Amino acid sequence: MFQLRLCLVLFLSSIVSLQAQQPKTYNSSEIYEAVQKLNVLGSVLYIAAHPDDENTRLISYMSNEVKARTAYLSLTRGDGGQNLIGPEIRELLGVIRTQELLAARRVDGGEQRFSRANDFGYSKHPDETLEIWDKDEVLADVVWTIRTFKPDVIINRFDHRRAGKTHGHHTASAMLSMEAFDLADNNDAYPTQLEYTATWQPKRLFYNTSWWRYGSQEAFNKLDKSNMLSFDVGVYYPSKGMSNNEVAALASSQHLCQGFGRLLQRGSQQEYIEFLKGEALNDSDNIFEGIDTSWNRVASGKAIGTILKSVETDFNFKNPASHLPQLLEAYKLLQSIEDEHWKAIKTKELKTIIEACTGLYLEASANTPNAAPNAVVNLEMEVVNRSTTNIDLVSYTLSALHTGVTKNMSLVSNQKLNFEESITIPSNSNYTTPYWLNKQSTLGMYSVTDQNLIGLPETPRAVSVDFNLLIEGTPLTITKPVVYRYSKPDKGELYRPFEIIPIVSASLSDDVYIFENNQQKDIEVTVKAGKNHIEGYVEMAYPNDWQVYPKKQRIAITNKGDIQKVIFTVIPPNNQSEGLITPMVNIDGEVYTDEIIEIDYAHIPYQTVLMPSKSKVVRLDIKKQGNNIGYIEGAGDVVPESLRQIGYDVTVIAPEQISPENLDDFDAIVVGIRAYNILEDLVFKQRFLLEYVKEGGNLIIQYNTNRGIKVDNLAPYDLHISRDRVTDENAEIRILEPNHQILNYPNKIDQNDFEGWVQERGLYFPDNWSKEFTPLLASNDKGENSKEGALLVAKYGKGNYIYTGLSFFREFPAGVPGAYRLFANLLSAGKQDEASLKN
Ligand SMILES: [Zn+2]
Repeated sequence: MFQLRLCLVLFLSSIVSLQAQQPKTYNSSEIYEAVQKLNVLGSVLYIAAHPDDENTRLISYMSNEVKARTAYLSLTRGDGGQNLIGPEIRELLGVIRTQELLAARRVDGGEQRFSRANDFGYSKHPDETLEIWDKDEVLADVVWTIRTFKPDVIINRFDHRRAGKTHGHHTASAMLSMEAFDLADNNDAYPTQLEYTATWQPKRLFYNTSWWRYGSQEAFNKLDKSNMLSFDVGVYYPSKGMSNNEVAALASSQHLCQGFGRLLQRGSQQEYIEFLKGEALNDSDNIFEGIDTSWNRVASGKAIGTILKSVETDFNFKNPASHLPQLLEAYKLLQSIEDEHWKAIKTKELKTIIEACTGLYLEASANTPNAAPNAVVNLEMEVVNRSTTNIDLVSYTLSALHTGVTKNMSLVSNQKLNFEESITIPSNSNYTTPYWLNKQSTLGMYSVTDQNLIGLPETPRAVSVDFNLLIEGTPLTITKPVVYRYSKPDKGELYRPFEIIPIVSASLSDDVYIFENNQQKDIEVTVKAGKNHIEGYVEMAYPNDWQVYPKKQRIAITNKGDIQKVIFTVIPPNNQSEGLITPMVNIDGEVYTDEIIEIDYAHIPYQTVLMPSKSKVVRLDIKKQGNNIGYIEGAGDVVPESLRQIGYDVTVIAPEQISPENLDDFDAIVVGIRAYNILEDLVFKQRFLLEYVKEGGNLIIQYNTNRGIKVDNLAPYDLHISRDRVTDENAEIRILEPNHQILNYPNKIDQNDFEGWVQERGLYFPDNWSKEFTPLLASNDKGENSKEGALLVAKYGKGNYIYTGLSFFREFPAGVPGAYRLFANLLSAGKQDEASLKN
């Protein structure tokens, strides 16, 4: 069912996915809409915490109906979530979600901003959130966004008065917005920002409320709404052939890695905003009340407004180029206004309109998708004027290279010109990679020091071409980033951004290598050439108590893009130990330690991310009893692979194969995360699993959410799953039954085993259970009651039933030794007696 839905969404989104790759061109309706927008000098900033928090119905309404300049400030890039479309997690997921937000904004017409806050995972309370984020830095970034975007109106997605009732990031986003509203105009707040921008006071602040805030539609209907404005966000746009809510659903459907593909919505729909702060509204439903959002807003703007209003009123859909004299006149007047903020914004908009009206096509494409510094790249410039307007190509300037080429040619209507230039990528060029990943981040914050990069959705492109034109005698420069254009027989024309890469990169086959004993392992390093003819050697950096052979491996690669694989033998120490290994490629005395990660999905532009190449090596001190494990997969986790890494024989059992005969031989059966939430088959198969326990088996069930459990008899005894979780991965663990077999056999579990956990302790712990269960561990987040449901064991018949909300599925891929040792004990439950019998 899910697969089907995803396919449908991919199909729907293909309507807009072209825009993700190809340069945007404008038809008459789109030019007209752009002119309408050009005539509105008002702006709205929407603020929330994550990609997908934003209400695209309201953003689209503000952008397309109100015609305001509209932006969404997402405090985080959503690194902490799960990825439904591929293997990327953490920073790489943040890169995908950043691009999905940009894709959503291309649909709804908004702009996108971010702060440096890192989405570290679920947080119960804004106090905790603001402790893990550097509150002052995030607040500074919200203030910076307000000072640079200069919104007249701010709309919060979340209610600042709901601490503890929703995700802490959500409430924190609203609280920070409230504070920033008061600080942005204060010269004493974050004064270093004022070297680059000026203070700004937004006019008013709203909260985008909804019935679900009040529990039910009925409760919301009864509410006094005198402090609220409402909009019909289902308004129909003839120029688009779509309703606002259809546009909004298309925008939301860009969040594919979160499974947000959805059906389009149509018809009248009300959206409410509650006034919170600023200048109260005087009985009007105009959020901009008191602000002149016409061209009269800026000094000397009146004359520009008069011209552009007449373009809008008498717009010529058949021949938009007929408006060029007026547009160019407005452009010239605009260049002499003093308001630098609006001048920059409106100049950019007007240039786009002028370019679109002339049907100009300007492109600079490279003959290769990427190149290293000092490499020679051939660029092909395509220039064509598809109107009868007089346009001269004066010159073009290769911006990053500071070289100009004079042309002085007039562009004959619809006569395509092609020019070739060969350029050398400057030796000091920055590699193409997301700027916020350049420095080591903390749990709560990305580290970005260049103030002018903070807030930007992506790294500005390093290589672009300025086309210097004379349009009807008016000088005008249009800048195009260099692209790589190619085609595939089954996909048609495709575009990729042109990228600068290192001359060599190296990657390891796995993120974590687990050594269950002192036996050596061969580890493969893949070296990839970023230019032709590289020669050198690879060494491995490794922890002191480990050994790696050989010390050096020679490499020689002839062609750019080709790879060479080399093998290193890694020998662990005798005792438990962990550390990092890093391949270091030495070419002519320069050492390269980065890996290039490619992210390639149809709905977003191709991305490359440069990250330090490193993997964790873990020597476990682990004992195991029983080897033959059956695994019933749930919503997807890497527990089977992890158990195989430490030498278990793991067989994945399909739900339909669950039968008494098939279960018999296993030393233990493990059920994957959320299996009881998603596997219908378990309704009929649960009795076999419980029977297996009764006959002496060992069943380990990992977390399920408390809603939508498919079976009535999750356990042989009463067991109630709650939403209890412990989100602090360092929260104290109290051992309740130190002498219990599961904490002693075959591995003695102590506090050391709970060190170095990642993301959280666990989730959806049971909060109520019958007396047959023994709780083994207790833990809680700061300020909460002790939770004892993380690990529950019950004897049933001759076997053991174990339920655990501990996040083994997160700890295994992070190579946390204690998690492996404890899980080995769960798998060994009941085996001590068997072992002593044999001895
Ligand atoms: Zn959220």
